[in-house]
Amino acid sequence: MDCIICGSSDLELLDIKNKYYHCQDCEVIFIDPTEIVAQAEEKERYEGHDNNHQNEGYVQMFEDFIEELIEPHLDLEKINDVLEFGCGPGPVLADLLEAQALEVDRYDPYFFPEKVFLDKKYDLITSTEVFEHFSDPIKEMELLTSHLKDGGHLAVMTSFHPGPEEFEDWWYNWDPTHIVFYNQKTFSKLASDFGLDIIYTDQEKYILFKA
Ligand SMILES: [Zn+2]
Repeated sequence: MDCIICGSSDLELLDIKNKYYHCQDCEVIFIDPTEIVAQAEEKERYEGHDNNHQNEGYVQMFEDFIEELIEPHLDLEKINDVLEFGCGPGPVLADLLEAQALEVDRYDPYFFPEKVFLDKKYDLITSTEVFEHFSDPIKEMELLTSHLKDGGHLAVMTSFHPGPEEFEDWWYNWDPTHIVFYNQKTFSKLASDFGLDIIYTDQEKYILFKA
C-alpha cells in the first residue's frame, strides 16, 4: 500500500475500528480501499441528508462559504463560468451563486450525472463536502484542474483532520462515506503537484486554490 496522494510507502496504520492509514510525508489520512462502502449504500446515505433550502443550517453553511472564501478573494464581476462540482440532490450553493448573477453548471455523479463540464473551462469551480468522498483524489484533481481556466479558482470545503491522535474521536470520520482527510500539508502537496497557488485557507475547512 502506497499513499494515494504522494505515493509514499511510509504509512502508519491507525489502530481504530476501520483501517485507516496516515501518510508520514503528506499527512493525509485515508481508509483502506477494501473498506470503502458500496456505491448503492453511498447514494442512499446522501439521500438521507437533509440537504435543501428548508434546512436553515445547510443554507447558512453555504452563505458562510461564499462570505469567507469567495467574496473577499474573487472579483465576481469578472467571473463568467462556474462549476458546482458534487452539488448533491438539492443544489443550494449553485442557487446562491446564481443569485449573485453568476452562471453556474451543476454536476453530481449521483444526482446531476450529465458531464456538462466536458468541453468547458471555468473561472471558478466550487466543491463543498466532496473531497472527503474521493477514492482517488489525484484522478479527481486532474479532472478539476483540466477544467480550470488559467488564473481560475478552485474553492474547496472539507474539514481538515486534527492529527492521528485525535482522529478516532473526531466526528467527521463517523460518516462511513468520508474516506479521505486532508490537512494543510496535504493540500500544499496537491497545490505544488498541480501547479496551483493557495490563495487562502483557514486551515480548518476552507481552502482556495488559483491556477
Ligand atoms: Zn502521502
